[in-house]
Amino acid sequence: ASTIAIIGAGQAGGEVATLLRQNRFEGRIMLFGDEPHLPYQRPPLSKAYLAGEISADALIYKAAVAYEKANVELRLGVRVDEIDRKAKRLLLDGGEQAAYDRLVIATGGRARAIAVPGADLRNIFYLRNIADVDALRPQLEAGRRLVIVGGGYVGLEVAAVAIKRGLAVTVLEGMSRVLARVTAPEMSAFYERVHREAGVDIRTGVTVTGFEPGPDGASVGAVQCGDGQTIGADLVLIGIGLTPNSELAERAGLDVDGGVVVDDVGRTSDPDIYAIGDCAMHANHGFLQRRIRLESVPNALEQARAVAAAITGKSSAPAAAPWFWSDQYELKLQMVGLSDGYEKIAIRGTPESSSFTVFYLKDGKVIAADAVNRPGDFMAAKRLVGERMSAAAERLADETVLLKTLIA
Ligand code: FAD
Repeated sequence: ASTIAIIGAGQAGGEVATLLRQNRFEGRIMLFGDEPHLPYQRPPLSKAYLAGEISADALIYKAAVAYEKANVELRLGVRVDEIDRKAKRLLLDGGEQAAYDRLVIATGGRARAIAVPGADLRNIFYLRNIADVDALRPQLEAGRRLVIVGGGYVGLEVAAVAIKRGLAVTVLEGMSRVLARVTAPEMSAFYERVHREAGVDIRTGVTVTGFEPGPDGASVGAVQCGDGQTIGADLVLIGIGLTPNSELAERAGLDVDGGVVVDDVGRTSDPDIYAIGDCAMHANHGFLQRRIRLESVPNALEQARAVAAAITGKSSAPAAAPWFWSDQYELKLQMVGLSDGYEKIAIRGTPESSSFTVFYLKDGKVIAADAVNRPGDFMAAKRLVGERMSAAAERLADETVLLKTLIA
């Protein structure tokens, strides 16, 4: 029997390990993860886990017994340092080696570091894993000044948690609006208003140029901005995106270009090596018709399914429309599709009521939708977007027209 090694025990790695067994793979399955935890869910890290509403145990989505039952050899707290493709061996951080026949790279990514003077001062945080939150949460004390660099999902979710805890929160966004890369101006304006009403000081079009130490000389005391302003801070959170962990693959000579390049079923330039999840630059002929690296749980799970199927000689469904969610305050935002390049939007419901959906149209087709507190709209939008249906903007916006009647 052959051996499959998986590098990275995160959402994608944990999933592919047990799926391989479900697909009746009979060989050895080894799952290497450098964190000490069983594979866990990251979305609550900036939401319920940061708020202290759930424990670390609740993040674990499959108990140890599930891996035991599937006969997956878990090697946690073990880092893979090198892939030797010629010898088909992994070099582990303790000096040990592990042979593989086929390999799945599921190394995810790391928070993108900010490269400005003072970035290594104490009390400047990033948020990617349990350890990051365990370091940050005790610092979230009422009255302290938190400056968040980056008005993306992670930054805004942390802002929502921190303002509720009584901190003075400032969000600095370099672009002219928050969530600029992923959503329409109307949606950005809505989230800016909600945060401002909650007391968050949102400043857009502001770049950070450096950090100054506080009175102790070691911790951050202020954030310097490109426009000359200096903002006092007791702690800083950086949320400026993700860098894929693709260096291992690159050093092994695999094709890497903004992520580990893979075909539709997840195969890299080496036919015995696959890559899935946040680290993978996916061909995506199935839905988007362009190469893309997505950072979401549904994407990690979908790619895990495709690779488990490919390895065990089964067919899998083509890539579906990407989707994502974000929780801030009492608002549940659910998004499907990618809105970039849209020509027109239609808004169903009203932002004032905190219950509305923005549909994005291109060439008469619905290419994406963002639904706020509208799970019903989101379900319909998944079909409209997933099946690339045409719809008239006026009808999408008209609440007297049931969305299901627009689904052909
Ligand atoms: P990861 O889950 O990052 O797992 C990769 C694992 O591999 C890590 O444990 C890493 O330490 C390990 N690793 C890396 N290199 C090595 C090595 N050389 N040897 C051994 N182990 C290694 N997605 C959503 O869909 N909705 C959300 O609301 C949402 N919110 C998020 C909030 C936060 C704060 C974060 C950080 C992410 C959020 N995401 C959300 C994104 C989602 O969590 C990721 O897309 C998902 O975790 C990707 O899974 P993955 O397995 O590719 O990577």
